[in-house]
Amino acid sequence: MPHPLGDELTELHVHLGGAVDPAAMWGIAHAQGIRLPTKDYWEFVDLITVNPKRRKSFEDFLELYHWTELIQSSPIALEQSVYEVIGGAYRKANITTLELRYNPLKRNRGGEQDLDHIIMASIRGLDRAALEYPVKAGLIFCLDRTFDHRMNEIVVDKAIQYRKRGVLAIDIAGPKNPDFHYADYAALFKKARKAGLGVTVHAGEDEDWQSVDDVLTHLEPDRIGHGIHAAQDAGLCKRLAERGIHLEICPSSNLDTKVVRDLDELREFIGVFRKHKVHFSFNTDGPEMLQTTLRDELKLAVRANLVSRDELAQCGEWAREASFLLKSGA
Ligand SMILES: [Zn+2]
Repeated sequence: MPHPLGDELTELHVHLGGAVDPAAMWGIAHAQGIRLPTKDYWEFVDLITVNPKRRKSFEDFLELYHWTELIQSSPIALEQSVYEVIGGAYRKANITTLELRYNPLKRNRGGEQDLDHIIMASIRGLDRAALEYPVKAGLIFCLDRTFDHRMNEIVVDKAIQYRKRGVLAIDIAGPKNPDFHYADYAALFKKARKAGLGVTVHAGEDEDWQSVDDVLTHLEPDRIGHGIHAAQDAGLCKRLAERGIHLEICPSSNLDTKVVRDLDELREFIGVFRKHKVHFSFNTDGPEMLQTTLRDELKLAVRANLVSRDELAQCGEWAREASFLLKSGA
């Protein structure tokens, strides 16, 4: 029987910390005996999802991950979380190509839990989901801007170690940090690429276009996470198009975190990408945290006239082409 929602979709940019259904998170937290700040389910939902009344800044948005990362910080929790995300993506949006990202070093309680146990548990989650749903899924490991080089190197080494087990690529995420410089990571990213990993990096989200330019100069990415502010510079857009670098655009996320002012500004930015023939696709960033689905994002894109229906189909094609799952031959 065909999926009731129609076309198969590709999701390239989704964080594990923002993608597990709150009811599943509630169950996982209780199964581990985690002392939550509330015993009320609805207050818990409020704690881990966007709330336009309470949220004030991009940093506050990143704070939402505090509880989800803590709850997901054990092998059992990680396996269940990965499994839940893939099943949910298929059931709620008919996503059949899915790249899920997380930072293993933000899931081991500061070294209390063994990293290999954590990573293998996430791979078990992938395997369990593959037995139940027709979804091609893989993992992306996130480095963090607040980590020092030594810690980020551990994440890259683990990604290389588990490359043939479902880890597709590396990413850099996390809040801005004046001590963090992309240039310091050129050698490490070269090593990752040489080992066959894909490279996508968060840039041009809360930062301006120069951050994207910096990533291009030092890290040779295949894709950019968000990259929305790359539209501020025509020369950069031309380079993105020439090099075939794909932008993982997350409309609701950018609007909720207010890194983009409103739909008019978003439409203007996407218009610039269209003009310069920059490849991009739409993603959720974290469907449960942002209370959206990939289907909602695509509907928004057409309804708000960010793209036409034909262009939306083209974006879907670009997303499939840019998937590291394709590259890895999975
Ligand atoms: Zn992101």
